[in-house]
Amino acid sequence: MHDRRVIAAIAFVAISLLSDANANEVSSVQREQEASHQVDAAQTARSLSEEVIVWVGANFDLPAKADRPQIRFATQTEMMRIRIADRERSRGYVQEEPAAENERNVVAIYDTSSRTIYLPENWRGKSPEDQSILVHEMVHHLQNLAGVKFECPAAREKAAYLAQDKWLARFGKSLEDQFDVDMFTVVISSACM
Ligand SMILES: [Zn+2]
Repeated sequence: MHDRRVIAAIAFVAISLLSDANANEVSSVQREQEASHQVDAAQTARSLSEEVIVWVGANFDLPAKADRPQIRFATQTEMMRIRIADRERSRGYVQEEPAAENERNVVAIYDTSSRTIYLPENWRGKSPEDQSILVHEMVHHLQNLAGVKFECPAAREKAAYLAQDKWLARFGKSLEDQFDVDMFTVVISSACM
């Protein structure tokens, strides 16, 4: 009886260890898959960049410059950090953002100083929605290259949202349907207050 209990305990420990080992193995496989997805996604983003730059140049009042931005992937937390740093740099010039704007998740971000577009880690670039995120950030890149002056940083958003909406429209979609951003929100979030 006593022996059986010992065996059962040993078996339990062994099974626990085994399942732990399995869990680690799974997560490392997932990590590898994630990494290889990102290599593919980065490739997709780079090849799409060319087309997006030309399209934005043809449809909006922005020069289609050949300088492509750097493209990186970042977590929500990293993007929030980049956004705060960007705000810090332009302090004194930026008005306080309305609370709602601060709370809204950062989908992607363009870092003006390093000319880098940060895309979310789950970005694959195959869907019109994913592509429209790149379009939005590419507008910020072209605004930056062209040295367009804005009354306030929020004013940069209008053209970016309009371009994103126009890209989605090519696929019968809209900013409002896909991102819950209607034109009223666009106007409000790009207004200098
Ligand atoms: Zn933007």
